[in-house]
Amino acid sequence: MTEHNPALDGPPDGGDEETEVKPVVAVVGRPNVGKSSLVNRILGRREAVVEDVPGVTRDRVAYDASWQSQEFTLVDTGGWETGLSGLAGMVAGQAEFAARAADAILFVVDSTVGTTDADEAVARVLRRSGKPVVLAANKVDGELQEADALTLWNLGIGEPFPVSALHGRGTGDMLDAVAAALPQTPQREEEPEDAPRRIALVGRPNVGKSSLLNRIAGEDRVVVDAEAGTTRDAVDEIVELGGRPWTFIDTAGIRRRFRALQGADYYATVRTSQALDRAEVAVVLMDVSEPLAEQDIRVVEQVLEAGRALVLAFNKWDTLDEERRYYLEKEIDRQLSRVSWAPRVNISASTGRHVERLVPALETSLAGWDTRIPTGKLNGWLKELVAATPPPVRGGKQPKILFATQADARPPQFVLFTTGFLEDNYRRFIERRLREDFGFHGSPIKLTMRIRE
Ligand code: GDP
Repeated sequence: MTEHNPALDGPPDGGDEETEVKPVVAVVGRPNVGKSSLVNRILGRREAVVEDVPGVTRDRVAYDASWQSQEFTLVDTGGWETGLSGLAGMVAGQAEFAARAADAILFVVDSTVGTTDADEAVARVLRRSGKPVVLAANKVDGELQEADALTLWNLGIGEPFPVSALHGRGTGDMLDAVAAALPQTPQREEEPEDAPRRIALVGRPNVGKSSLLNRIAGEDRVVVDAEAGTTRDAVDEIVELGGRPWTFIDTAGIRRRFRALQGADYYATVRTSQALDRAEVAVVLMDVSEPLAEQDIRVVEQVLEAGRALVLAFNKWDTLDEERRYYLEKEIDRQLSRVSWAPRVNISASTGRHVERLVPALETSLAGWDTRIPTGKLNGWLKELVAATPPPVRGGKQPKILFATQADARPPQFVLFTTGFLEDNYRRFIERRLREDFGFHGSPIKLTMRIRE
């Protein structure tokens, strides 16, 4: 089959499935109370934050933060425009957005000024929201000012935590309260750094998988099969390539000739998905001596579904003549356009041509798959992108992207917090620009939305 393949040209994953994200803490309060200084203090000044000047829109809105072992995304809402007029209305509007997007709110008040109309407007919004709120009475730089903080009980938010964003005084107790208000998140399990990376060598029957494996790993490692058709545990092999060890997944399955069996296609598909489950990167091998087949595309789809890094290897290059080459290019353009970001190598398992080029391709794909963009950097980038090309209006409304976070790597997963639905086209645009500016060569990317209408 050489038809246009909708499955491979389709939109990226939509926003309908929940991705595990770190809890979000939004910092709200009227201008000049010291929100940015407090954000700076919480981050330990790991990321520079613009000064809190009234009326100046901040470059960045969200950051990676942690307290004790609790990780969270810290959102500075200062730059959010709400379209409401008047300071109190504007700040209350920001608080309303914040309350929707966040799991907990850090409400900052200037205790040297006391409560103002704007503070009271924010307090009303937050009380209604039902979200946990921690009240920071800022600018309590010494013991003498502690009494000022007590007046903030009248906001009806609960205990004011006296803090000094400038000196750090009291921020520990305040952060204890923030952490206690957050839902517990499962700890990320860290992979051992130096383990050999795991490769699945996949492709439809007869494309040359076992030939390539023999070329790379040598014939002498052939795993002898007891009886055709019996299931045995998968056997992996550690193979040295380009001066470092790699784990090839289920080499026993590759070397056993499945095509000889009845129902071989079905078992090949199952084998492929089992190998992909355990792999980090997939080399999809294709046979250039024949037209690309539906089955080849299906294998690529399996890799994308499994969320693995991808290298496309075109085998039997020794058989290629000018005419076939011409058609091959067309087939690739037409059928593999969705994975145009994947590195390609043209090899011959028979002659050994360019087989060594698999190594840099694997390394590139894995580097893309591993990439993590810090939340502050991501949001600075996103803010510029959205300012230059805003999301299209939908149903008379302009959806806003409040902030974004990379919820996971391997593969990279991004979550956009928005006030409306973003069209597939616009999400594809963001994905394309992410790839242009941050790489992700060889890796699928997942973009999902959390809509707060
Ligand atoms: P597998 O089913 O994917 O493991 O495919 P095999 O490795 O068994 O190869 C299928 C057939 O293609 C065999 O006859 C191989 O000799 C042949 N073959 C594999 N690689 C190449 C290649 O690079 N060039 C040519 N001309 N033939 C190849």
